[in-house]
Amino acid sequence: MEYRRLGSSGLQISALSFGTWLTFGKQIDDKTAEELMTVAYDAGINFFDNAEIYARGQSEIVMGKILAKKGWDRSSYLVSSKVFFGTEGKDAKPNQRGLSRKHVIEGCHGALKRLQVDYLDLYYCHRADKQTPIEETVWAMHQLVMQGKILYWGTSEWEATEIMEAIAVAKQHHLIGPVVEQPQYNMLTREKLERDYLHLFRYHGLGTTIWSPLASGVLTGKYNDAKPGDTRLMMEGMEWLHDRVIQEQILEKVRGLKSIADGLGITLARLSLAWCLKNPNVSTVILGASKVAQLKENLDCYSALPLLTDEIMLTIENILGNKPKADSF
Ligand code: NDP
Repeated sequence: MEYRRLGSSGLQISALSFGTWLTFGKQIDDKTAEELMTVAYDAGINFFDNAEIYARGQSEIVMGKILAKKGWDRSSYLVSSKVFFGTEGKDAKPNQRGLSRKHVIEGCHGALKRLQVDYLDLYYCHRADKQTPIEETVWAMHQLVMQGKILYWGTSEWEATEIMEAIAVAKQHHLIGPVVEQPQYNMLTREKLERDYLHLFRYHGLGTTIWSPLASGVLTGKYNDAKPGDTRLMMEGMEWLHDRVIQEQILEKVRGLKSIADGLGITLARLSLAWCLKNPNVSTVILGASKVAQLKENLDCYSALPLLTDEIMLTIENILGNKPKADSF
């Protein structure tokens, strides 16, 4: 396993990591969850990603039980949570979601309990909260760091200007500022990582833990010509995600990518993940998997890296036709 620095922080993070959205506490049973975490840990993955909203807290409970049972040395892995959506979903009362000092602090206490750990290595603001002054959130995060309840904090899907503001507030008051952002990044969604955040990477050393590297499975090619059952996009309640990613113009690109992968003798999943890993502004690619075989296949994406020559990257670029224009860089 390769380890990368999380931005300009001193933290070493495995270049592949493992997350639990829609799987732990929901799509898969706890036995499979344990097998997945064990395979991940044994392969050298040191970062497990979670959030208060995943299965409304159940995902953290399942992960917490596994961490307690496994008894891995606490210093050998990183675990995260994310605050914003709460655990109550649509039933949340005022203050049970958002980034007020109250919810940031209470959210952290809840996550620590569910995960059965004394501190979180990474704590994310899962979305920006337009109702709360950024200053209040930065102070709350700083206080959690001072209390030893979190070690590093960051944002997820914030605009570059919002991250800049959080950094500026932290600098102004000599507080611990955000060191990491968690954006979606894959061959189909590129703007934030390849355009919006370039200034933050270059001048502020922002790290990234990227999500949905396979666009929820679309970039494995399995939806190209079929609607396979027992998959995320066919799950009840996931119609919104299905309609967002299963579109003919997207599938057409994926079919083109699949023929490149076939030509190289690798699976499209491996090619898609290796493509993400090639970007030096990616600190870690968070893998998701509902089956152990998927995780094993994905962990082997390193074998695809040397095959992604300049020529192949250009062929991929021509199929995608979506390279963001980064004017000033
Ligand atoms: P992916 O885009 O990689 O999708 C993972 C899903 O794709 C799997 O659960 C599986 O679904 C399918 N899949 C994975 N590998 C294969 C394979 N080799 N062959 C066939 N199907 C495969 O990642 P996620 O969307 O899960 O995102 C990764 C993590 O990022 C999450 O777990 C979470 O921790 C984080 N995240 C963060 C967000 C944020 O807002 N900050 C938002 C979303 C995710 P199936 O078997 O059901 O088809």
